[in-house]
Amino acid sequence: MRQIIPIVSRVLILVLATAGSSFAQANPDWTEPFPPFRIAGNLYYVGSKGLANYLVTTPQGNILINSDLEANVPMIEASIEKLGFKFKDTRILLISHAHWDHDAGSAMIKGLTGATYMVMDADVPVVESGGKTDFAYGSSPTTLYRPTKVDRVLHDGDEVRLGGTVLVAHLTPGHTKGCTTWTMQVTERGKTYNVLILGSPNMNPGYKLVDNSAYPQIAEDYERMWRVLKSLPCDIFLGAHGSYFGLEEKYPLMKDANAIPFVDPGSYKRYIAQKEQDFRTELARQKLTAK
Ligand SMILES: [Zn+2]
Repeated sequence: MRQIIPIVSRVLILVLATAGSSFAQANPDWTEPFPPFRIAGNLYYVGSKGLANYLVTTPQGNILINSDLEANVPMIEASIEKLGFKFKDTRILLISHAHWDHDAGSAMIKGLTGATYMVMDADVPVVESGGKTDFAYGSSPTTLYRPTKVDRVLHDGDEVRLGGTVLVAHLTPGHTKGCTTWTMQVTERGKTYNVLILGSPNMNPGYKLVDNSAYPQIAEDYERMWRVLKSLPCDIFLGAHGSYFGLEEKYPLMKDANAIPFVDPGSYKRYIAQKEQDFRTELARQKLTAK
């Protein structure tokens, strides 16, 4: 046993040390371009293969969800312009949650567009410290980024309104303290759809659900998230990573002009049920080990 512990801690140190910028190398799909396209109504996909970004267009300018790594920003700009919109028309910047793969490019985007940055209350200290106050990654230098001033602090249930479009911020905590699931409605060919952009239902490697002094209420927060996610209406299932909702599998189906392949309430329900099951298994395991 004594021999195993140093090996385990060495592996852990290695994992944490490579967790940040080299995450991009470890996850090459994060910076791999993906064709931009209209999902439905005034909602567009402008992300990479691995990191999802959404553009909501309105007559009074546009809303961008997620800023990704700084390396992604030129790709996001190119995707927006390719669709015929102007990157400079980005009026509001939102995020899924305060992790570098979704928010490290925010300072750059604010600087380039002058967008108003709106973040859920419990994620604000993390964003404004450039990741330093994150309960899991704060002391891992490679996951830090440029601290970014938040212009509007959001609270659970707050609405973000622009040019007739309304997005609602739902606090779905656990993965981060202010993890946010966004909902909105889009109209496509006379039909209205409920869109849900999932913040993150995941427990990352090393997440402590029991006796976590940096995040004592983490397990209760995950419980709250399952309740909220199961209560929200979802026709069009989207999320912070394309892998949540099958971006690569569904995108080719857009060729059929009559199809909106992202309308998939069944897969949303199955995905959440599976993630909740994973959480319960891991919580039980950690409780047993903690005894
Ligand atoms: Zn994350």
